Amino acid sequence: MDPHVLIFPLPLQGPIKCMLKLAELLCLADLQVTFLNTDDSHRRLFRRTGGRAGFKGYRKLHFDTISDGLPDDHPRSADRLTDLVHGLESVTKPRFREMLAYGRLSSGSERPVTCIIADGALNFALDVAEEFKIPLIHFDTISPCGLWTYLCLPKLIDAGELPFQGDDLDAAIKNVPGMEGFLRRRDLPSFCRGSDLNDPIIQLVLEEAQKVPRSHGLILNTFQELDSPILSHMQALCPNLYPIGPLHTHLKTKLTPASPQPAAASTTSLWEEDRSCMAWLDAQPPKSVVYVSIGSLALMTWHQLIEFWHGLVNSGQRFLWVRRPNSVVRGPTGLVPEELVRATEERGCLVGWAPQEEVLAHQAVGLFLTHSGWNSTLESLVEAVPMVCWPYFVDQQVNSRLVSEVWRVGMDMKDTCDRVVIERMIRDLVGTIDGSDEVVESLESVSRLARESVMEGGSSFCNLNRLIEDIRLMKM
Ligand code: UDP
Repeated sequence: MDPHVLIFPLPLQGPIKCMLKLAELLCLADLQVTFLNTDDSHRRLFRRTGGRAGFKGYRKLHFDTISDGLPDDHPRSADRLTDLVHGLESVTKPRFREMLAYGRLSSGSERPVTCIIADGALNFALDVAEEFKIPLIHFDTISPCGLWTYLCLPKLIDAGELPFQGDDLDAAIKNVPGMEGFLRRRDLPSFCRGSDLNDPIIQLVLEEAQKVPRSHGLILNTFQELDSPILSHMQALCPNLYPIGPLHTHLKTKLTPASPQPAAASTTSLWEEDRSCMAWLDAQPPKSVVYVSIGSLALMTWHQLIEFWHGLVNSGQRFLWVRRPNSVVRGPTGLVPEELVRATEERGCLVGWAPQEEVLAHQAVGLFLTHSGWNSTLESLVEAVPMVCWPYFVDQQVNSRLVSEVWRVGMDMKDTCDRVVIERMIRDLVGTIDGSDEVVESLESVSRLARESVMEGGSSFCNLNRLIEDIRLMKM
């Protein structure tokens, strides 16, 4: 029986992008892949004419869709994620079960599904896979360090570290092995700050912590050399790990001119990319631009936006700022001070969505003011761009701590949003870019290790080969 992999991402920009890269890598290895999107993500991914063109070169890649249970006009934004959780559980789960009832996708392919790769947060996928005896491999697209705190949640609760007693967010956390020296309460995922363990997100994560170790394996978007202390702890719970990242670099490396690559570059963006910023970047001096983006989900208040703006302008740097539509929460707004408008006209560029990987690789970019999403963090590490971190939620609080205290490639302004702090951090990091500072040295070393890991014989290269072999061996 030929292998046929069903890939099922969480319907959010970050996981979809990662899983599409994995789908392309598996197709390059000649595996048959069906990519299961929710109707809404699918529409947004392919709404542009030619959006599909990038995937046309992959003969063995097919797309299928499923409902997420939400009405078309639902914003699916960070502040409404519990609606998505309910929709997935009440509507998507039974449909997914129906879809797989005969071991083959009802809609198209004649081939039975021989392996499911599902996001670790889609808890129901394992129940369905076990019911139909289809091997399932989890892919957790958040950071391994973030995931490790999820997996340690039961232990934190048993030890009485969660919920927090008292309000000292700087208290050290003791029950996340491998992170004892640097993890504070404020560095745990944001949902840990609530006092109610029955909160639906905590319950979802506790279920995930129970289910992830039950699958056939766990794919991670990292490379052994970056996360080895955490990976060895994780291996005690999940023995079969496949660290195959950074996936975007892995795919680029495989798409050499000799490979049967697709004609056009594939798009993985749910928003229309505004490429005008690339011409703007071309006109800026090397390493002179601060790139600002808070990813696909994070939100800001009007006050925070103005603090960011003053901080950027007062730093004296040029800046390229992604202002995603609807990323400022509804509420009172005010007039933008004249000096901010003027400085932005002189040395700023604002776009709604940027081709981020290209932006970070551009020689004009010297610093990334980021929300510390895991994809953004990896993309910055590979391009050796230092980071000022303003983590928003989920794994981002953990990621920013590793950026500042473990990998030492940036600064963490967690829990503050103050123009003075932003200006100081930008000035401090920009001051180091051309020097032989610790940050520059750490970045160069991490970037080199990342690139080597996906080259022939590298750790991620070998782990991907092992994953492909294991998928080939899976039989229903
Ligand atoms: N991204 C992009 N253009 C933008 C902003 C973000 O292409 O203007 C991409 C970015 O390259 C990254 C993803 O969106 O791959 C965001 O994922 P991440 O894990 O960093 O954060 P999330 O959006 O999940 O919070």
